[in-house]
This record gives sequence, structure tokens and C-alpha cells, in this order.
Amino acid sequence: MAGNANTALSLAGAPARDAMLANLKSRIASAGSPSIALATVLVGDDAPSHKYVASKHAVAQSIGMKSIRVDLPATVTQNDVEAAVSQLAADPNVHGILVQIPLPSHIDEDAVLSYIPAEKDVDGLTEASMGRLMRGTDGHIGCTPLGVLRLLQHYNIATAGKHVVVVGRSLLVGRPLSVLFARKGIDATVTLAHSRTSNLEELCRTADIVVSATGVAHSISAAHIKPGAVVIDVGISRTNDGIVGDVDAESVAPIASALTPMPGGTGPMTVACLMENTVNAAVMQGVAL
Ligand code: NDP
Repeated sequence: MAGNANTALSLAGAPARDAMLANLKSRIASAGSPSIALATVLVGDDAPSHKYVASKHAVAQSIGMKSIRVDLPATVTQNDVEAAVSQLAADPNVHGILVQIPLPSHIDEDAVLSYIPAEKDVDGLTEASMGRLMRGTDGHIGCTPLGVLRLLQHYNIATAGKHVVVVGRSLLVGRPLSVLFARKGIDATVTLAHSRTSNLEELCRTADIVVSATGVAHSISAAHIKPGAVVIDVGISRTNDGIVGDVDAESVAPIASALTPMPGGTGPMTVACLMENTVNAAVMQGVAL
């Protein structure tokens, strides 16, 4: 996995994403193309959210799945959103449900998510899915943490016995990712760091793999990285100069053995993991695949 001298191997997401999608597509086709459906619930007019949802539908269809769109106006009530999710939850033809986050501020997100049964929770965000991850039982893992793992696996980067420092402890990324890394079979030793961690530089320098998910632009520099370490950038900051990651790639690339580009590293993995979760959801609900 070593890059050229003085340049880390670039852990580009697109080849890993494409390989995952090709595998899923051929698995669905080989099983005789059974009906598998992903449903999305989108509330309001947020343009980026509409773009993300459209791209999820396009990818689902490109690998032979059906997709169902439920778009609700920004003025919708809590009851209406919950009713839409409940209807999808009860529909045996729907295997995965994704509620596009963020919802408008007058909607209680957690209450809406609670209507998604664990088997259909392909975003892995509900309490039931988080509980299954913690207990190590069969369930869906959030697409961003799962994407980090799949990216490492695609590039044959070993995790067993490695020390991983995850920077950022959010429910969306850092916390599930740290549990995932410590799972049996993945077998890393994990340290979960956050804004109150002291000596972050020193701590990161003890890591074989550093994953940063803070959204603090260029906060991980050469001073944080042990020579030869693998560095995964999850953070996204939108600046006047475009999208910037948590990692100062210019100073880190000469030291690390491998580094994700930003953009183009962890981002592309998310949609592939959503498709993996939807295929697994169909299997959990009795589809022969
Ligand atoms: P949150 O804001 O919910 O969490 C950020 C975490 O970073 C918190 O735990 C916070 O600590 C910690 N943190 C903040 N500043 C520092 C610091 N200076 N040193 C150490 N830790 C710090 O963000 P999310 O987890 O939702 O997202 C993180 C980033 O990942 C964002 O930039 C987001 O846009 C991006 N993202 C990227 C995705 C991708 O596909 N690449 C997908 C999802 C998110 P504390 O808990 O103490 O406040």
C-alpha cells in the first residue's frame, strides 16, 4: 500500500464506489432481477437535498433496483411526515427507507426516524440500528462510517491490530465509526478524540490510521501524522476556494503512506453503501439474492 517516495497513495473513492456498484448490479441480475425498492422521503425545496435524492434514485435504478420518491412541501406537518414514513414502513414492496436530512426546523427528526423499522433503515440512523451496531447483530450501518471501512478494504489496507484514531464523536460519523473499527473481524484498537481531547497532535501521531471528521478545515497537518500512517479525510468545509477537507494534504502527503483526496475520497462511497444496505435490507425481508 506504499505510495511513491514522498507521495501518499491516493485513496480515490470513485474506483471503490464503482466496484461496489458493479458487484451489487451483477448480484441482482444473477438472482433473476427480483424487485428491490428504495424509497426516499424529502421535505421542502432545499436544492442540494433535491440533487442528492435525485442522484440516489439514478444510482439505484442503474443497478437494477426500483426507487420510490415521496416529496412533501416545506409546510407539511409532523403528522403528515410521520404518516408518509409509516405507510412506507408497512409496504412489503418497499425494502429501504431513507428520510433526507436535514428536515425543516419545525419537524422533529428523531420522532420521524422512529417510524422506520430497523430492517428498512438503510441510512442506519435510528436508535434500533445504532443498538444493533453496538451489539454486533445484523443491521444497517450508517453510509458514511461504512464507506470509510469499504474504502480501506478496497485498497487492501489492514485494520486488524492497528491503532485507529477517529477525530470527531458525532452520532452520524465518529461514534458509529469507532464502534465499527473495534468490531470482531475488523479488530482495530480505537481511540475516539473530540474537541476536548488534550494533546491531539501527539495522540494522532500514535495512530496507524487517522480518520478526521470534524469539519475544521486543514486542522490535521504533518504534525499529527506518524510516517507511513494512513489518513482518511471525512470533513467537508465549503470555502471561497471550493471544498476543503480537515486534512492539510500538502503537508500530510509527503509523510502518510495513503491519503484520501478531498473531494473525491470518502464522499463517493456514501451512495455505494446506501445501495449495499438496500440490498441487505431486501435479503433481511426475504428476497432471495
Ligand atoms: P458534527 O459537527 O456533528 O461533529 C463534529 C465533531 O468534531 C464533534 O464531535 C466535535 O467535538 C469534533 N470537533 C470539532 N472541532 C474539533 C477540534 N478542533 N478538534 C477535535 N475535534 C473537534 O459534524 P459531523 O460528524 O456531522 O460531520 C463532520 C464533518 O464531516 C463535516 O464537515 C461534515 O460536512 C462531514 N461529512 C462528510 C461526509 C462525507 O461523505 N465525506 C458525510 C457526512 C459528514 P465535540 O463533540 O467535543 O463538540
